[in-house]
Parts: sequence; structure tokens; C-alpha cells
Amino acid sequence: MFFKDIVGQQPVKEHLRKMVDENRLPHALLLHGNEGTGVFPLGLALARYLDCTHRVDGDACGVCPSCLKFNKLAHPDLHFVFPIYKDSKRKKERCDDYISEWRQMVLENSYFNMEMWLKYIKAENSQAIIYAQESDEVLRKLSFKTYEADHKVMLIWLPEKMHSVCANKLLKILEEPAPQTHFILLSENPEEILGTILSRSQSLQIPEISQKCIAEKLEADYKLSADDAQYIAHIANGNYIQALNNLQMGESASELLEYFVKLMRLAYMREIKELKKWSEELAATGREYQKMFLDYALYMMRENFMANFREPSIVYMNSPERTFSSRFCQFIHERNIDDLTLELTKAANDVESNVNSKIVLFDLALKIATLLKRK
Ligand SMILES: [Zn+2]
Repeated sequence: MFFKDIVGQQPVKEHLRKMVDENRLPHALLLHGNEGTGVFPLGLALARYLDCTHRVDGDACGVCPSCLKFNKLAHPDLHFVFPIYKDSKRKKERCDDYISEWRQMVLENSYFNMEMWLKYIKAENSQAIIYAQESDEVLRKLSFKTYEADHKVMLIWLPEKMHSVCANKLLKILEEPAPQTHFILLSENPEEILGTILSRSQSLQIPEISQKCIAEKLEADYKLSADDAQYIAHIANGNYIQALNNLQMGESASELLEYFVKLMRLAYMREIKELKKWSEELAATGREYQKMFLDYALYMMRENFMANFREPSIVYMNSPERTFSSRFCQFIHERNIDDLTLELTKAANDVESNVNSKIVLFDLALKIATLLKRK
């Protein structure tokens, strides 16, 4: 991961580069932003830049001995801490026990979230945390002199998942690390980080990626047409992980519309039996797909509400969606849009927290049936 691979975030990159160039990178830097904004890739690109011995044009060179080791994420002065699922049977109890899976996933794609990581280590339904004992590992690794580079870097992904015992043990070293040691904390929920850790770090907020930057990246990397790229970027809401998911579902976009149209028709006609069938059918797909559908439904509600204002520049629907919307949009108005949004969001949260999807989706369908009739 180089700065040039980061999607958007030009001002942030500029800022980080400058910190390194001017030798004022803090010992503990906290980058925080929503999922899919590139917090982790930015941290990794920063670490590479810091250790590169031949920086060129504001980026790492890619060919110096340090960069070569970064290519494999196997630099002796680069350390990772990340949430894991403790599996005593497989003797996987420390981050290092997962390091080969970690490297492989990051090398394949450094835009990932917790769900993708858990899937990668086959621990989908587990809670991953940074365990208390990980602090001993960190202290041990930092007690050695730097091997090769001028700087030792400890990248901590999701410090908010750190057990308080671990966090407390790291306070002293965060405050007074050995010279040339840098902690880069990469967080999605900084408000959940222990206050004592927060107060010892300099923090930098990473904004959402602009739609334009996401669209350009999709066009360049996936050979999409400008229209398709813009459409996907629009529903991604500044989240590049979401954009990649949308891209994958691209082929199934018409299928999502079908599910949506069917739900709206049946809800409007109050076909309770058929609505039950609909929810069972959707519940039989995976949770990922259900979440995708619910995101899509939110998007469709928003767009249809907007369509009432007859202002084409604020409506982003593609052509089959527009066709449906031309007659449907009148049913989405200021008297039901808030509640529809609320119910869809609630259903998405329930699906995410493993509540029985059949019940969640059927319940949602019934609520929509009521809300569509609201005068
Ligand atoms: Zn280099």
C-alpha cells in the first residue's frame, strides 16, 4: 500500500507526508474515521513512507530494501496488533499466531472491515478483541533495537477493541516510547477507546471519501463506464468497502430491484401470505445479501422521496429504477419517509446482530404495508 493507492483523501495524505518530511510525526498518532474511509490503508502507507529510504515524489520508492520487505508486510520493524478470536484448540492466542492470514488478507485488499477479517479467519460468529496478554507481546517487540529501519512502527487496528488490561499496560510506553518508535492507532469508533489512551495520542479525523474520487477509482480500476461508476459511488456514501460490495452485486442490481418492487407491490396490496413468502425467500439468502438489500431499499426510499421534487439533478436512479419510480414515488412523502428509514435501519441492525432474519423481514414487510398507506 502506497499513498498513490489510497482512494481520495488528498489533504490527509498531504498532511501525513508533511509530518514525516518535517520530522514531526507524533509517537502516538490516532487516525479515525468511518468504515471504508481508508483509515487502515492510510496507516499502512504512512508506515511504508516513514521507513522508505528513497522517498520519491511524496511516496515510498517501492524498491529500497525496506519497501521490498513492506511488499510482503514482513519488515522486522513493522508490527501489527489487531483483534483476534482466541482459539486455544488451534493454539491461536496471540496476533502473531494469525499473522500469515493477516498478511495475506491485507495484501489482497487493504480496504476491509471486521466482518471481512472474521470471515478470513473462519470466525464469522465470534467476537474478536485485542486480549490482555497482547500488551506483553507489544512490550517485548518494542524492547529490541530497530533491526534495519530508522523507525519502529506498531500499527494497532481497532484500538477500541482492546481489553482494558492491555490498554493500561501500554500507557507508559505510549507516553514515553523509545526514540524512533511510533504507534499508529487506526480506529473506527474513537469514542470507545479508553480516555487514557486517547489523551496520549494526537488524533486526526479521516473524512468520508468524495463520490467523485470513488467514481474515478472505480472507472480506472474496474473499467466501468462513467455513469455506472457514478451510480455505484453514489449509493456507497463515501465508503469504499461499500462501493466494492456494490460493484460485486452489480450483476445482481436488477435482482435487488426485483425484490424491492415485489415487496412494495405486495405491501401496497396487503397480500400478507405473499409477504410472508417474500420474507422467507429473502431470509434464505445470506446475511450479507440481506444487508445489501436493506441498504438498497434505503437508497430507493430516499431517491423516490427526492423524485417527488422533480429535480433531476438530485436523483441518481438508473433507468429501470426510474421507470418503476415514475408511478411509485408518490407513495413516499414527508409523512412516511422518516419512519420508513427508521424501520429499514432497524432491520439492518437486527440482521447484523444475528436476530432471526425471517422474523425481522416479515415484521419489516408488515410495517411497510402500514406506512405506504399513510395519508
Ligand atoms: Zn522505499
